[in-house]
Amino acid sequence: MEYFEIFCKIYIDGFGVYWNIPFTEMVAPNNNLHRAVIEYRVRQAVYQRLGRPLPRVAEAPNPLVVNVSARHCHLTAEVVEILFGKGRTLTPFKWLYQEGQFAAQETVTLIGPRSRVISNLRILGPCRNFNQVELAYTDAIALGFEIPLRGSGNINGSTAGMLMGPAGFFEMPEGVIRAMRHVHMHPDDAAFYGVKAGGEMKLKIGGPCGLVLDRLLVRADPNFKLEVHIDTDEGNACNLQPDTPCELTT
Ligand SMILES: [Zn+2]
Repeated sequence: MEYFEIFCKIYIDGFGVYWNIPFTEMVAPNNNLHRAVIEYRVRQAVYQRLGRPLPRVAEAPNPLVVNVSARHCHLTAEVVEILFGKGRTLTPFKWLYQEGQFAAQETVTLIGPRSRVISNLRILGPCRNFNQVELAYTDAIALGFEIPLRGSGNINGSTAGMLMGPAGFFEMPEGVIRAMRHVHMHPDDAAFYGVKAGGEMKLKIGGPCGLVLDRLLVRADPNFKLEVHIDTDEGNACNLQPDTPCELTT
């Protein structure tokens, strides 16, 4: 936040985030506010206060949040019962940036073809109407899997796997994939960036290990907040940190 230091001070502590200049949109102390959202709001307020035209990045209708998705799975309600017991449902553990999405308390064990396992594979809820395991290539190599690169939900003919829960096993005939890197956005964002659902963008990541990720799949929906999902291989390759500058381009 260095570039705003001369205009305002931002205190970030264990209790939340406070600004000491009047803002048109005050935000209640909230530990869960993503740094990119705070920066976006500060930038807009500062430019408004200075009466200066907004730079292109601040003209965007929404802040850009980039998050790393660690390996996880999506399951149907039926499979949750097979793995955890009759009548069992997912319990939210941590709410994600996309509205209504959560990491569940429940985790499963994924068993690979040579009996190597990944334990504590997080389930993301709510339940879906398909079963899918999303791994980074490094995870797949460790397990001995060969997995295809797919858009989420497109699992036809993908890799098979075995899941183990406290109450049972579930043999997945398919569904183990490496998910394509993608960006969730509202149609307003798609209009601003000049892209369409199913199209592709680039994500430019700054910092000492900066890189550009091509072929970022655009997923547009009125319920989506602007958020890029990359996997742990991609996040680690550029050492993505909360203050790493990121930019979407076409
Ligand atoms: Zn996503």
